[in-house]
Amino acid sequence: MQPISLLQIAPTLAEFFGVHLTSQLRAVEQILTFAYSRKPIPKVVALLVIDSLDYRFYSDFAHELEIIHDLVERDGLLFECETVSNHTTPAIASILTGLLPESHGILTGEDVGTSNVNSILEIMEDEGQKTAAAIETKGAKPLWGRISYVFPVDDREDIFEYDDLIKKHTISVLDKQDLRLMFSHLRAIDRFAHRDRDLSVAAKVINENMRAIANAVGERNGLLFICGDHETHLKDRKAKQALHGKSPATVPLIVCCP
Ligand SMILES: [Zn+2]
Repeated sequence: MQPISLLQIAPTLAEFFGVHLTSQLRAVEQILTFAYSRKPIPKVVALLVIDSLDYRFYSDFAHELEIIHDLVERDGLLFECETVSNHTTPAIASILTGLLPESHGILTGEDVGTSNVNSILEIMEDEGQKTAAAIETKGAKPLWGRISYVFPVDDREDIFEYDDLIKKHTISVLDKQDLRLMFSHLRAIDRFAHRDRDLSVAAKVINENMRAIANAVGERNGLLFICGDHETHLKDRKAKQALHGKSPATVPLIVCCP
């Protein structure tokens, strides 16, 4: 498996959809070859970011995440990606722009909407290709009026209810025949990690949400990208890393046609 960077997702999508995006990194040829080899060539891509899904979590919870592992085994691509940040906001901005946090400047929630760097969603819209996003309300604000379909979901105590709403919006917008790119962000694993709760419970719920989303993408003959944003924030792992020295975290990127 060849290591790539999270920064290559946006250039890969730009190349696939034939729009111009400025990034220091190149598109992943293997993904483009995979996409172009499908018949029919997919018209829609769903990009699902699973918060706190790092490579080790993906392996350790393989049983709970069986749908995602199945998608790879059936006929998918799996990459190990270098991360660019330990925090959600800058990592997601990097995934969507193809730029390092110091270049896009979106480091905290306060910076959302202040950057004049366009994401792949806005770039595609400017080229007449419709895009959608289902994300937390604060992250959704700068996209209002900029992209075709915006589904803001308020943060809440019940993170399963939150992810359920994200899933439902994702599935419903995939019905739109003119949609080209959907971006969604699922958060249960990250919330459970921060609160030291049973991660296998969160992983199973994510798995069921991904089952439903993969089915909806499959019905549209679409392409599904699934990736993490940063390393899983675990208390005991941090202590161990402090003891043994820290190796840079990686996250999985899965590309498949469900
Ligand atoms: Zn995160």
